[in-house]
Amino acid sequence: MAYDYDLFVIGGGSGGVRAARMAATYGARVGLAEEDRVGGTCVIRGCVPKKLLVYASRFPDEFADAPGFGWTLPDAAFDWRTLIANKDQEIARLEGIYRTNLAKAGVEVIDSRAELRGPHSVHLVAEGREVTARHILVATGGWPHLPAEIPGVDHAITSNEAFHLDALPRRILIAGGGYIACEFASIFNGLGVETTLVYRGMKILRGFDDDVRDAVQHEMSHRGVNVICEEIFTRIEKTEAGLVGHTSAHALSADVIMFATGRRPNTAGLGLDAAGVKTGPSCEIVVDEYSRTSVPSIYAIGDVTDRVNLTPVAIREGAAVAETLFNGTPTAVDHGDVPTAVFTTPEMGTVGLSEEEARARLNVVEIYSAAFRPMKLTLSGRQERMLMKLVVDGESGRVVGCHLVGPDSGELIQVVGIAVKMGATKADFDATMAVHPTAAEELVTMRTPTARYVRDAAE
Ligand code: NDP
Repeated sequence: MAYDYDLFVIGGGSGGVRAARMAATYGARVGLAEEDRVGGTCVIRGCVPKKLLVYASRFPDEFADAPGFGWTLPDAAFDWRTLIANKDQEIARLEGIYRTNLAKAGVEVIDSRAELRGPHSVHLVAEGREVTARHILVATGGWPHLPAEIPGVDHAITSNEAFHLDALPRRILIAGGGYIACEFASIFNGLGVETTLVYRGMKILRGFDDDVRDAVQHEMSHRGVNVICEEIFTRIEKTEAGLVGHTSAHALSADVIMFATGRRPNTAGLGLDAAGVKTGPSCEIVVDEYSRTSVPSIYAIGDVTDRVNLTPVAIREGAAVAETLFNGTPTAVDHGDVPTAVFTTPEMGTVGLSEEEARARLNVVEIYSAAFRPMKLTLSGRQERMLMKLVVDGESGRVVGCHLVGPDSGELIQVVGIAVKMGATKADFDATMAVHPTAAEELVTMRTPTARYVRDAAE
């Protein structure tokens, strides 16, 4: 049968765009449909605009440190609208580059919602027509999830809207304790907003190393974020004076309430059932190691598959699909030891096993950790500590985890991630000469374990 396309991609985010461009480079006839803006969550309403806001929120630290180094500054003033306008301009520029690169690669971009109609057919809603493809790739990402059972939750915003607020709020309440809640709490706090984080668990950032969670929560609180744990919003009320977020113990007033209580795969109305594509309990598309769904001609990558929901992972998955289908090299993505950063202030970088995971899996675990005040803060007198922690398999000597809290941890963990991925041992770290004076030199100078755990033979 003759198809209109060799590959039709639904969704123009980071993963879909990478797959489309690579497939076209390998000679495939590729179409890509996007109902919103090309660039997806990362470029339009996620990583990129978030990082610009993170930069903005950290200037007060520089201003506070400056006098210790002899600088006298005039009073600083901040303008939210200028930041948002400049951010929007940058996002528009990036979207333009994405579109240009797709066009250069020969990908046909169709500005329309697309829905599956069968194993090889896609309905383009805006154009009211159907196209066929030998292979279809679903890369529709995820979307913020608000707990609908909370009365008044429709008065709350999500991260999507936080990027477009008309004015900087005076007080904000944030629900959740994951990446997005903590990053936005740091952003708004840094910009001078009275910020309260309400989290249902005992300690924010569940799933990460416990020491790192403690350090980030301590420093965020020390910087002025009011972190309330073991509570949830039970009701949101809109009054003449603003909003009130009710928990079991508090009635908290605010101008803006933001929910960052997780994201869900974007599968609603996509026609998955019609095409016979199986989904899991969170509506995620179920795929094999090659990102192939239960329908052999349909693939899915990125957040819609709810594997590791990070942009670089989606990009790798997209590239792997192009390799598999159009370059004769079936490629599975290795989801192990993925380095990641949480852009809170202070920032966190992590790769590999947490101490808790290592102790559950390995017979002997050695921990090397150091907490210290970064040199830059010694003259300004700011009391903030950096944490560096290595988790080592005591039998093989392999460094199986690294966890950092402090300035530039996101940058550092990218590099440490290479060593961990390569299987470097603690002896390899020790054999590496230190770069002095840096904070990172601690990673190669910690000689004595701060803790050693040997699994009881009876366990
Ligand atoms: P997360 O899953 O990381 O966090 C969701 C938070 O909401 C958790 O603290 C969770 O609590 C809480 N929660 C969930 N449901 C409820 C509820 N009904 N009531 C109260 N609290 C609730 O999701 P995010 O939205 O923060 O981020 C989504 C994903 O996006 C991340 O997992 C990450 O993969 C990616 N991301 C990556 C970034 C980066 O690389 N820097 C930045 C932003 C996002 P509990 O812990 O108890 O489950």
